[in-house]
Amino acid sequence: MNENEKLVEGLLNEGYLKTPALKDAFTKIDRKDFVPEDLKGEAYGNYPLPIGFGQTISQPLTVAFMLELLQPHPGEKILDIGSGSGWQTCLLAYVVGKSSKGKVVAVERIPELRKMTETNVSKYGFIESGIVRAILADGSKGFPGEAPFDKIIAAASGKSLPDAWKEQLKVGGKMIVPIKNSVFVFEKVSEKSFEEKEYPGFSFVPLIKD
Ligand code: SAH
Repeated sequence: MNENEKLVEGLLNEGYLKTPALKDAFTKIDRKDFVPEDLKGEAYGNYPLPIGFGQTISQPLTVAFMLELLQPHPGEKILDIGSGSGWQTCLLAYVVGKSSKGKVVAVERIPELRKMTETNVSKYGFIESGIVRAILADGSKGFPGEAPFDKIIAAASGKSLPDAWKEQLKVGGKMIVPIKNSVFVFEKVSEKSFEEKEYPGFSFVPLIKD
């Protein structure tokens, strides 16, 4: 078993990873490809690591927990806000790209980190195949040019749920959103109504509005 497989095994044993398609994605997409050169030796620790500009590659258990709530499926179009290292973007692309039409729209507000998303995601060919689009923008406004989305996920935490995300999600769609120190699931049950569930006890970098 290689080091990345050991990380996956730990996430399975601790109950964070459950779904076979996600286990497969975490196994195939190696976290080492997304951490800075000087931190490669720590790529498989279950903690966040700095990626520059005061930002981090998210903690594996948090990414696993949030993707299990999101339940991405082949063929879906997903908005990934705060793409940073591109690790979560790649995990999503691996799953949705199993069927044509599957697409991940990755939004990042720091130019150097948008470039990092693109460079790292490119290691798996998902930019070249058109499955991932890496965009420089303030994701708190969503991304109207690619809306509507089947699902939305954010990696940075704000004080409330942005209206743009509510509008850009399809009816029947789902969003996984950090707010303060909780992960929220919002399901859009009709044009104007959402069902929500809160999972407290997490920590995130702030969602910055430009
Ligand atoms: N999924 C990433 C998480 C990076 S941390 C990874 O595992 O590497 C969260 C990211 O959100 C940071 O890169 C930060 O720059 C970005 N971010 C914060 N506010 C944002 C905004 N309004 N729009 C887009 N990206 C934002």
